Parts: sequence; structure tokens; C-alpha cells
Amino acid sequence: MSTSETVPTAQEFLIETPLYEIADLEQGRLLRYFDETFDSYCPQCNSHSIFERYWQYSKSIGRDQSSWIDCRVFSIQIQCTRDRRHKQLFIFKAIGQTIQHF
Ligand SMILES: [Zn+2]
Repeated sequence: MSTSETVPTAQEFLIETPLYEIADLEQGRLLRYFDETFDSYCPQCNSHSIFERYWQYSKSIGRDQSSWIDCRVFSIQIQCTRDRRHKQLFIFKAIGQTIQHF
């Protein structure tokens, strides 16, 4: 895992990136509070679908660039746009400026 300048997409961040060290604070904020759609496989549809962020409570976006640093365990939930009952939960842990995917 290198700290290249390429910003991972939401999909890469959620599904493909086990451990991500973030040099750019703004980049971390965008990942922590990402709000975009992406294509992924939905096991419940048994096919590819488009997923979007599911905000369990109110949609809260950290305004401070560094609001995510060392915030410890947090979760991101996404939902299938074919059937919004199809949800996937991802657990992350932010230690210092590194976000670890569980
Ligand atoms: Zn689905």
C-alpha cells in the first residue's frame, strides 16, 4: 500500500482498500463523509447494482478537515438502489491519519 496521490474512489475505499494512510486531511474528510454512488456487486440481488450512501441518522458532514482524525471506530452504510432494503455495513477504524478497514 503506497501513499500515492491518487484519491481512492468510494468503491476502492470501501471494498478494496484494507489500510489507507491519508496524507491529505481533506481527502480523509471526503472518504469519511463520502456521499456518492458507485457500482458494486449486490449479493441479495445476485447481480451488479448501484449503491449509494445510507445515512442512518441525519446526514452529518464534518466541516472541519481534520474531524475524522483519530475518530476511532466508525461505520459507513450503503444501500442498493434496486432495493433499498439491501444494505451493507462497513466498519472502519481511524487511528491517527490511517483508516483501517475491518
Ligand atoms: Zn440489491
